[in-house]
Amino acid sequence: MADMAQGVLLVVEVDGGVIRPTSRELFGVGRALADASGGSLVAVMIGHNVSDTTDAAELGADRVVVADAPGLASFTVDGHARALEQAVESVNPAIVLLPGSTSGRDLAPFVAMRRGVPCLVDCLRLALDGDDVVATRPVYQGKLLTDVRARRASPVFATLRAGAFAAPEPQAGRATETTALNVELGPGDIRVAVTGTAEAPAGPTNLEQAKTVVVGGRGLGEADKFALVDDLAAALGGAVGATRAVTDLGWRPHYEQVGQTGKTVAPDLYVGLAVSGAVQHTVGMRGSGTIVAINRDPAAPLFKIADFGIVGDVFELEPRLAARIRALRGE
Ligand code: FAD
Repeated sequence: MADMAQGVLLVVEVDGGVIRPTSRELFGVGRALADASGGSLVAVMIGHNVSDTTDAAELGADRVVVADAPGLASFTVDGHARALEQAVESVNPAIVLLPGSTSGRDLAPFVAMRRGVPCLVDCLRLALDGDDVVATRPVYQGKLLTDVRARRASPVFATLRAGAFAAPEPQAGRATETTALNVELGPGDIRVAVTGTAEAPAGPTNLEQAKTVVVGGRGLGEADKFALVDDLAAALGGAVGATRAVTDLGWRPHYEQVGQTGKTVAPDLYVGLAVSGAVQHTVGMRGSGTIVAINRDPAAPLFKIADFGIVGDVFELEPRLAARIRALRGE
C-alpha cells in the first residue's frame, strides 16, 4: 500500500520554550518504535509562540511540525484536538505518542475515539510485534501488569506513564526540518474559555521533577504538624507531597497530592512520614529509587515496598533525622 502509515508522531508539551520532562520521555521510546516501523520520528508542538524547535531537534526528532495559533495558547481539548488531527493527517504516522500528563490523558482518548482507533493508556513498555502495537500497562491500581495488543490502525494512540521511560541525552547542535501547520479555528470551535491560569508556587514544590520527595500523611494529626514535612524536605533539599487523606482534609493543596488521583512521582529518594501506604497512594510513587517509611505501625503497608523503614513516632524521629542530615551537610 503506497499510503501505509509509518513512523511515530510525538505530541510534545512546551513550557517557556523548553520541552516538559514528561514529553522528553517520549523521545527514546519514540525513536525505537519509529526505527522498528521503518519510518521517521516527528514531533508536533501545539501552542502559541512555540517557534523554538531546538529542544525537539536535539532530543532526536527527524522533523518538527509546529501548530501555532493564538487560539492554541492555552490547552483546550477542542483546540488541541483540532491541531492534532491535522498533524495526524499530514504526517500519517503508525503510532501517536502522548505524555501521561493531564492534557495528554485528555487529548489521546478524545482524538482516538473521534477516529475510531485504539488508545493504549498509561504504558510502561511499548513495542511493535509485526503490525501490532503491544503495551505493558498497570491494572488494579498497579497491583498487576498486563500486556495489551492493538491491531494496526491509522494510527494507534498511546500515552506513557510519567517517569516510566528515560529521556535521551540531547545532542547539542543537532538540527532538524520544521514544517508549519496552519490550524484554522473558528469562533465556535473552542467551547471552553480559559480565563486565567494559577501558577503553583515556584521552587521545591515542583513535585514531578524533584529528585527528593517527602510526603506527609494523616498520621501527622493536624495541618500545623505538616511543618515537620516541610522541615525534612528543606533539610534534604526536596519537594513536599501529601496523601489524599491530607488534601481531602484541606491541610495541603491538591497539587501536592501523590497517587492515583494525584501526581505520579519517581524521585531518587521518597520519604513517607506517617503515610500508611494505601495502594491508591503507592501507585503514584512506587517507581521511586529509594523508599523510606516512618510509621509507628509495623504493619503499615508502605513498609512492604520500602527500602528502609523506621518503626516509631514521627514527632520524635523527624527532628532527630533532620538535625542529623543538616549536621552531615555541614549546615
Ligand atoms: P492513613 O491511612 O490514615 O494513615 C496514617 C498513618 O499514619 C497510619 O499508618 C498510622 O500508623 C501512621 N501514624 C499515625 N500517627 C503516627 C505517628 N505519631 N508517628 C508515625 N506514624 C503515625 N490516596 C493518596 O494518597 N493518593 C491518591 O491519589 C489517592 N487516590 C484515591 C482514589 C480513590 C478512588 C480512593 C478510593 C482512594 C484514594 N486515596 C488516595 C486514598 C487512599 O485509599 C488512602 O485512604 C490514603 O492514601 C491514606 O492516607 P494516609 O496514609 O495519609 O492516611
